[in-house]
Amino acid sequence: MDNAQNVDPEEISKFNALASRWWDLNGDFKALHDINPSRLEYISQRTDLHAGPVIDVGCGGGILAESIAATGAQTTGIDMAVKALGVAKLHALDSGAQVIYEESTAEEYAELKPAQFRTVTCLEMLEHVTHYPDTVKACAALAQPGADLFFSTINRNPKAYLLLVLGAEYVLNILPKGTHEYAKFIKPSELAQALRDAGLELVEIRGMNYNPLTRNCRISNDTDANYIVHARKPQ
Ligand code: SAH
Repeated sequence: MDNAQNVDPEEISKFNALASRWWDLNGDFKALHDINPSRLEYISQRTDLHAGPVIDVGCGGGILAESIAATGAQTTGIDMAVKALGVAKLHALDSGAQVIYEESTAEEYAELKPAQFRTVTCLEMLEHVTHYPDTVKACAALAQPGADLFFSTINRNPKAYLLLVLGAEYVLNILPKGTHEYAKFIKPSELAQALRDAGLELVEIRGMNYNPLTRNCRISNDTDANYIVHARKPQ
């Protein structure tokens, strides 16, 4: 809402309806809410979120971005889904979170703000773009020399298919059907290659194991399904 005098109540109620989905702890995005504390903890342990600006690429409704901002970090979130950004902005108004939200791809934003960010996060997003190596390159371009970058995505193998597509979308209904396309899942070795091609150093790969029944998530050495990568841009 750029102009508080010019508000369309129907738009607001639409955003409210969507907002209730992004921020419904038991709704369509509940898995993201469930895993968020673990991934925030992982990120905070491996980067200094207060050492400089943070950008969350593909921030959606702002689940991670808000939690980063809540630590006091200077946070920007970018996404191409304008409705998700509307939700994110609305929720930030409500919660008081200080996040700058922009409608942009990583590539466009990297042109605008090259080498500006001390920490770059891009979680659960690469498996939704057409050509993830370009997104990784753009994240590298957004990063300051010495910056920490975090990517998370889904491994491509029969187990990941069973867990993430059949299990989560069709049996347990914890993700909306059609959320994930198996062919777009990314093997850790492929992501490692994309990081190297983008001039980044791979620091660590860990598994993110989410149990939809207990709704518990832990960082582990099992990278068979969801995993998170810490990378660094050389000085
Ligand atoms: N990163 C968030 C949301 C993950 S859902 C979290 O983990 O909580 C994936 C998000 O990526 C969606 O909000 C979608 O709109 C966004 N996205 C997909 N393709 C994109 C692109 N090319 N550029 C920017 N955002 C994109």
